[in-house]
Amino acid sequence: MPVKVAINGYGTIGKRVADAVAAQDDMRVIGVAKRRPTYEVRTAIGKGYPFYTITEENRADFKRRGLEVAGLLPDMLKEADIVVDCTPEDVGAENKPLYEKAGRPVIYQGGEEAELVEASFNAAANYKEAWGKRAVRVVSCNTTGLCRTLFPLYRDLGIEDVFAVMVRRAVDPQDAKKGPVNAITPALKVPTHHGPDVKTVIHDLPIQTMAVVVPTTLMHLHAIQVTLKKDVSAKDVIALWERTPRVRLVDGGEEVKSTSHVMELARELGRSRSDLFEIAVWRDGVSVVGRKLYYYQAVHQESDVVPENVDCIRSMLELETDPLRSIAKTDRGMGIPAPRK
Ligand code: NAD
Repeated sequence: MPVKVAINGYGTIGKRVADAVAAQDDMRVIGVAKRRPTYEVRTAIGKGYPFYTITEENRADFKRRGLEVAGLLPDMLKEADIVVDCTPEDVGAENKPLYEKAGRPVIYQGGEEAELVEASFNAAANYKEAWGKRAVRVVSCNTTGLCRTLFPLYRDLGIEDVFAVMVRRAVDPQDAKKGPVNAITPALKVPTHHGPDVKTVIHDLPIQTMAVVVPTTLMHLHAIQVTLKKDVSAKDVIALWERTPRVRLVDGGEEVKSTSHVMELARELGRSRSDLFEIAVWRDGVSVVGRKLYYYQAVHQESDVVPENVDCIRSMLELETDPLRSIAKTDRGMGIPAPRK
């Protein structure tokens, strides 16, 4: 019997998690919930997802728009084996008592504090830490991006230290309200929280980070410097990433020279919403000098965490013991290509 998954919050992340769950044969979407009757409700109902809302007042708003909902949040929780909270930053923490009352295990997103949960999660780096847990957080898009490329280096080569600068997109593409529109905004509290956040998953990784926000909506870009414990060439590092799930090498020499080109490549791949679930690393931007490795990577913030949510469900509900098998299954369902053997 497929496990029954409820998704609370149907925005950028929630709608993608719903589709990713629906693409797996060992789980199904038993409901999605949202407060406001936006156009997305109609598309979700069109996909056959039972739609719930939060309060009676919300239900009345839905009704005024001609939208009948299946019930309120507690009704949805009753139906579910597990809930994925995809509500905005800090709303997940407010929802926690509701989930506890319903006795349902819950996955939170990276906008919530690590202290809220029993474990933070990245499928390749610490799948087993979520095993059988009741409250787990899939780390943010930036932290997921850092874990994807750093973990194989840490595991196979050893890392002395990491310094990464995150060039962050200002907002997601559909957000018409926030900026900056014509400025570059440095995060003044340095080093930034991204380093400690990576350590919630790769606990003893020595990493420091800084960040700036720039007026773009497409992707984040990371400039990363790693001191390795072994002597290797750039070719060896590239070969390691080619064998790593959810990392995609791209080439400046093939005219992939910017995040706009990476997103155009994603459109060419013809995936739903033009998502790029993998982290894009520039092959011709990888360099090793002594034991220092330098590289750039681009993170599609709207989608990289989505497959991680699917694996997190499998780990928490003890459906699959082996992280690589879970990752491969998730990726097959979602149309993400397998890495080289
Ligand atoms: P979003 O604003 O796009 O979507 C949030 C959804 O939750 C909306 O549908 C909203 O109507 C709904 N909502 C608001 N209050 C609610 C409530 N009380 N109960 C139920 N639904 C409610 O947000 P998002 O970008 O999808 O972010 C969700 C979480 O994922 C946050 O923790 C965020 O930090 C994290 N995250 C976001 C991104 C990103 O780039 N967008 C990337 C990784 C992680």
